[in-house]
Amino acid sequence: SAKTTTSSNNKKQVFSNRHELLVYVTLLETNKPYIMNVMRTPAMQTLFLYASTIETNNDFTRILCDQWLEVTFENAETAQGVISSLLLLRNARDLLLQMTLQDLNKSIDVELLSKPRTYQLQHLLSMKMADFLENSCVYAIRRVLSAELDTIYRPQNVENADDDDSTIRKESTKINEYLTYNCLRSNDDQESFWSEYAGSTMQIHWVCPYCNEDILVNPAERVAHENQCQLSCEYFPSREKYFRIKLVN
Ligand SMILES: [Zn+2]
Repeated sequence: SAKTTTSSNNKKQVFSNRHELLVYVTLLETNKPYIMNVMRTPAMQTLFLYASTIETNNDFTRILCDQWLEVTFENAETAQGVISSLLLLRNARDLLLQMTLQDLNKSIDVELLSKPRTYQLQHLLSMKMADFLENSCVYAIRRVLSAELDTIYRPQNVENADDDDSTIRKESTKINEYLTYNCLRSNDDQESFWSEYAGSTMQIHWVCPYCNEDILVNPAERVAHENQCQLSCEYFPSREKYFRIKLVN
């Protein structure tokens, strides 16, 4: 499904769930460079899993990957769901890599103890990855020109620093080594002035779907909590269930 909308500054955006990127596996250099094993991959998912920097606006509807491609979502709720998924997947992938490397260094006795944990994490990762790749939410994608990088970010200085009112602070939040929240401008609409401030600082009661804790959070705190909480809640409690399944089989 695809539809074209024109934003207030007359930029055409094509919203679809079928954008693709071309990805290559090997670069072969002879007299000329050749790229080998080229495949088509879902654009948003590939970018979110592999980008070394992911920068967002205040409600995650605008996301800049590696200062190169910009993904725009129509719906903030959808966008936040996608961000949750990418945090879980990237955390699980990093942990799995660590555990696999540790297993390589262990004696056989210890390996027997630790391997089930590795398999369990592999299982979780493959299930969640399949869900993520099948995600059919619509988004627009475009290349950001280098000249635009001057205007795409919000000003980082703090205005009226003497004033105690934290709602006027223009600060972004680094969630982890690749994800920075609220450093992009929201859009070029006249409304953006208000949405930029209200959206990023407004605290709401939110029940974490993983640990069931009811907490008062702003969007940055919510994402930071999910980043910490998701993997441990998804991964560790299911261990018993996993063993039961294995025993039945
Ligand atoms: Zn939680």
